[in-house]
Amino acid sequence: AKASGRDRWAVFDEAMREEAVRILDLEADLRRAINGDGFVAFYQPIVRLDDRKVIGHEALLRWRHERRGLLLPGEFIGLGEDSGLIEEVDWILYARVMEEVARGGEGYVSVNVSPRHFRSGDFAERLLRLIDRAGADPHRVRIEITEVALLDDVPRALRMLRTLRNHGVLAQLDDFGTGFSALSYLHRFPIECLKIDQSFVAGLAGEAQPESVAVVRAIQALAGTLGIHTIGEGVESEAQRAVLRELGCVYGQGYLFGRPAERAPERIERIAVG
Ligand code: C2E
Ligand code: CA
Ligand code: CA
Ligand code: CA
Repeated sequence: AKASGRDRWAVFDEAMREEAVRILDLEADLRRAINGDGFVAFYQPIVRLDDRKVIGHEALLRWRHERRGLLLPGEFIGLGEDSGLIEEVDWILYARVMEEVARGGEGYVSVNVSPRHFRSGDFAERLLRLIDRAGADPHRVRIEITEVALLDDVPRALRMLRTLRNHGVLAQLDDFGTGFSALSYLHRFPIECLKIDQSFVAGLAGEAQPESVAVVRAIQALAGTLGIHTIGEGVESEAQRAVLRELGCVYGQGYLFGRPAERAPERIERIAVG
């Protein structure tokens, strides 16, 4: 019995060692990829729920890894955040996206900004410089941030959002409903749009969860009071689309309308801003 116990620990150790090696490998790969062209933007349409008209796209980071294939952010973003590499990856992606926007087309493209990234004092100026250098129309660029990024340092967040907005770059609040969602602060920020987190949209239909309906109803009431729009995230079924519309949500994003794809927005179709 003793021996088999030791064997089990040996197996456990080996698994831990392999996991550690895997993470170290990936981090080394990440550093190398930053100097190469392994990072690509995928674009997912954001539509008007009533007629499915595409009003914009969200740019989503993908890593084309030479051996592991296409990696999703969840598979490496934590790693990049710990080592501070994700900011570098983000700037590579933003540069790609701005070039794409500069190529033409209609509708906006939103980019994700992690809270830590937003914290760097010159984020707004740097993004505006990038947009300018690429020759992109700032009115067609949006940022997606979470509540954490706002509440971290309120005066700084306000300054950055105002600077961006003054130049035409609007902000959408990502994953709304999962954070603090405190009514008391929201009206202070120039936020164009709330993105209703997909966990609530998932509970709207099928095995509907009354709490999800209640949360979305509350978000809609809040958005209505503030005079801002909402985007339902992760819309996968017609039933979810129907309930969202019923609750007053005008825009949506999800597999029902289109998966993230590596195509320039203007090549998908000519789109009009809703
Ligand atoms: P997010 O900003 O909430 O992005 C939405 C996520 O939901 C994306 O996952 C998208 O592929 C997925 N999604 C879209 N429609 C559906 C649907 O109908 N059903 C389901 N189940 N999922 C759907 P993805 O691309 O894996 O990205 C995950 C997260 O990684 C993003 O969540 C965002 O927080 C982060 N991320 C993505 N791109 C970037 C980036 O360029 N920079 C930074 N800092 N973070 C990024
Ligand atoms: Ca997002
Ligand atoms: Ca989201
Ligand atoms: Ca999310």
